[in-house]
Amino acid sequence: MTALLSANIEASCAICGAPPYPECPHEGERLQLAFDQALARWTGMQLLRDWVLNQSRNKILTTFSSLRATRHTSHLAYLSSLPCYTLYTRYAGSPPLPPTQLATLHAQIQHANTLLQQGVDEDWRRCCLEYPKVLDFYFGMVEVRFPAEVGGEGTGGGREQRRVKGRRKSVDASGRGKKERRRSRGRTPPVAPMVVHRRR
Ligand SMILES: [Zn+2]
Repeated sequence: MTALLSANIEASCAICGAPPYPECPHEGERLQLAFDQALARWTGMQLLRDWVLNQSRNKILTTFSSLRATRHTSHLAYLSSLPCYTLYTRYAGSPPLPPTQLATLHAQIQHANTLLQQGVDEDWRRCCLEYPKVLDFYFGMVEVRFPAEVGGEGTGGGREQRRVKGRRKSVDASGRGKKERRRSRGRTPPVAPMVVHRRR
């Protein structure tokens, strides 16, 4: 006599046709691949990348420009304080000065130029080291909204929006347990997050 099959009968593996239990990894692997490909196709990801990168670069460059301007100003102030520097510029670098005095002036200018270059290099290096913090800052300004699931939490039905600030783990299908993955097969896939840029 044939046993009655439950209404909740599980399907075999869609990839290799193996029985539902024990669960083989194929469906999970293919889903992850399809998810990654869909994520790459999603224009929201490109918008997110471009926005965060542009904001971060602009922030770093603005900070660097400000530091460089300050250094250049004090560099010029130092040069102006050197004896005979005005004469030096008036004669385009060949002032009528005794050779020893001119050599000293040249050395002082050369030294100041070297210090300026070193200072600018150090400023730039420090600015670039701020990138992780700055990137985090702009990622933190991005708002992610998920449309509420029909019949889910909230009272407004499909129109209600779940609003989430920051990164959510729920997007990551791979974080689920195996049993839950199997059970959830065939249901409506999770809705892709929508990214909204907060502009200032
Ligand atoms: Zn399989």
